[in-house]
Amino acid sequence: MRAAVLKEDYRIVLEDVQEPSPGPGEVKIQVRVTGICGSEVHAFKGTHPYRKPPVILGHELAGDIVEVGRDVEGLKVGDRVIVEPQIGCGRCYMCLRGLNNLCENKIVLGTQEWPGSFGEYIVAPAKVVYPLPDSLSYEEGVMVEPLAVGVHAVRWSEMGLGDNVLVLGAGTIGLVTIMAARQAGARRIFATDLLDYNLAKAKELGATHIINVAKEDPVAVVLEETGGKGADAAFITAAVSPVVEQALKAVRKRGKALLIGFFEGPANNLEIFPLTAKEIDLRGCLMYTAEGFQSTLDMVAEGRLDAKPLITEVLDITQAQEGLEVMDKRTRDAIKILLKF
Ligand SMILES: [Zn+2]
Ligand SMILES: [Zn+2]
Repeated sequence: MRAAVLKEDYRIVLEDVQEPSPGPGEVKIQVRVTGICGSEVHAFKGTHPYRKPPVILGHELAGDIVEVGRDVEGLKVGDRVIVEPQIGCGRCYMCLRGLNNLCENKIVLGTQEWPGSFGEYIVAPAKVVYPLPDSLSYEEGVMVEPLAVGVHAVRWSEMGLGDNVLVLGAGTIGLVTIMAARQAGARRIFATDLLDYNLAKAKELGATHIINVAKEDPVAVVLEETGGKGADAAFITAAVSPVVEQALKAVRKRGKALLIGFFEGPANNLEIFPLTAKEIDLRGCLMYTAEGFQSTLDMVAEGRLDAKPLITEVLDITQAQEGLEVMDKRTRDAIKILLKF
């Protein structure tokens, strides 16, 4: 089968590799469309904590079941499906509490352990395979994964109807967080970014105030618009110290700051004084739970979350290198780049 393999930092090569075959409880899926996510870009640059070359990346996908292993119920050849790209063990302390995202023995798609959807076929245990409703295209199906990240972050923020929220960074994760916050009943949604293109998307998807941080101080804007109180919750989608500091300054006393995504290394010179002074609740967010993934799929199917505006281009799998370079270097405007086989 064809696979876009990350051979070394900054180099993807389209190769012919061995097709996987499904074991008991697994299905084999022919990937139709896959997405390029921030974590693939980190792997491409060599900064991802565990996605290391040589590896077949890709954890956002939609495709068709082409083979069913022994002991699989409820799925059949020909089903259009999407995949939750994490396998929990089902037995550990966190799995038993429905928190498979925090499983002690978790396996993640797009690693050497579980080769990803930049390959034409993948295998997956039936429990992480979700039928894609006929009303949704493969492209929309791929977007359930990033959308689930936003839904999880908003749920974990415990924000309420009428809350004012700040979303720092308006790339894909920032945008899905804006969409989820709007669904959850946010009143004002402040969005920040350095790129006007991203900010225009943020506005289109529900941000009420857009702030280009090259021109305006987001902390000042949020404080002014909230009568000096600050935002009820701040979502940090760009994990660098200055952005975390903006969140801590802009959030109200007893407010929440949600950190989505990994720092590249230790947080340097992070000023965390406001954390104590304002009794801020700083929380990390890691992917989503199985239940959250299903809820997100349902919301996409019902039209409550419209994935289409996030998709800016669809390239062929042979252009994987180009897609990753565009996401890394921003040689042209892009939110979500999909690859099709
Ligand atoms: Zn993703
Ligand atoms: Zn577990």
